[in-house]
Amino acid sequence: MRALPETPLERIRAHLVGMKMSRALEVLDDCVRRIEDGQLSALEFLDELLGEERATRETRRIKSCLMTARLTRIKTLEGFDFSFQPSLDKNRILALAELSFIERGEVIHLLGPPGTGKSHLAVALGVEAVKAGKSVYFTTLAEIIDTLSKAEREGKLAQRIAYIIRPALLIIDEVGYLPVQKGGANLFFQLVNARYERGAVILTSNRGFGEWGEVFGDTVVAAALLDRLLHHAIVIEIAGNSYRLREHAKLVPDSLRLPPVSAQTKPKRRRGRPRKKTSK
Ligand code: ADP
Ligand code: MG
Repeated sequence: MRALPETPLERIRAHLVGMKMSRALEVLDDCVRRIEDGQLSALEFLDELLGEERATRETRRIKSCLMTARLTRIKTLEGFDFSFQPSLDKNRILALAELSFIERGEVIHLLGPPGTGKSHLAVALGVEAVKAGKSVYFTTLAEIIDTLSKAEREGKLAQRIAYIIRPALLIIDEVGYLPVQKGGANLFFQLVNARYERGAVILTSNRGFGEWGEVFGDTVVAAALLDRLLHHAIVIEIAGNSYRLREHAKLVPDSLRLPPVSAQTKPKRRRGRPRKKTSK
């Protein structure tokens, strides 16, 4: 350590520089002025200096962890209008925000038609987890399959899977929007298997479990996936309307309105127009 300055104030400044306490350094002069004016006691001075530094560091930590988690479009539980989705139990979601599901390594399924807030809630829970100091990774099913296919071609599949399953909470958005290409279901299964009973997962989907055979293009793999992803699982079905369309719902033709997403694991009958009766 270099020789310290003579006056206490200059020494405090040098300590703060040495300890890289930039926020404390910023507020130092103002705090000193308030001590001199009799507005701040010695203890209050210390409290404020350390409090400011700590709050700034915490904000910086959260920002950086949100980037690492790839939570860039921030959504919060405070920003979620529960009155718009009466089928959703607000207390159940708030209980999830206590994050004990992460400790227990549970899988949360958020099911519902497009625009019902599945991604919003998944991101909001991810943000809560980051704030609580948990590691989080947000991705979509399509991205996972893309990145695993690439890793497989490069002979790095095991490393890539290990990287994706490392965080305490893995969020996989948009299961079911895009059809899974050949080989994709197998790759995803390897990831799910590696993750099984090793950490919490949140999945969002616009398709019921009974449709997973169709989503993954393979009923055997779909059954094996469900076997693992429904063990230690919490299933939340949102049966409401699209928040995106709330002002224009009347403009959507009936033929494009989607039915509620069912958690039933049995395949549903095919959707679409009923077959014409053949006249005898
Ligand atoms: P989904 O993933 O179910 O298709 P999103 O979560 O992406 O739907 O929601 C679509 C948009 O509407 C997002 O901008 C989201 O923040 C917003 N949104 C959805 N539901 C609500 C809600 N109940 N309160 C506030 N905003 C909502
Ligand atoms: Mg979504």
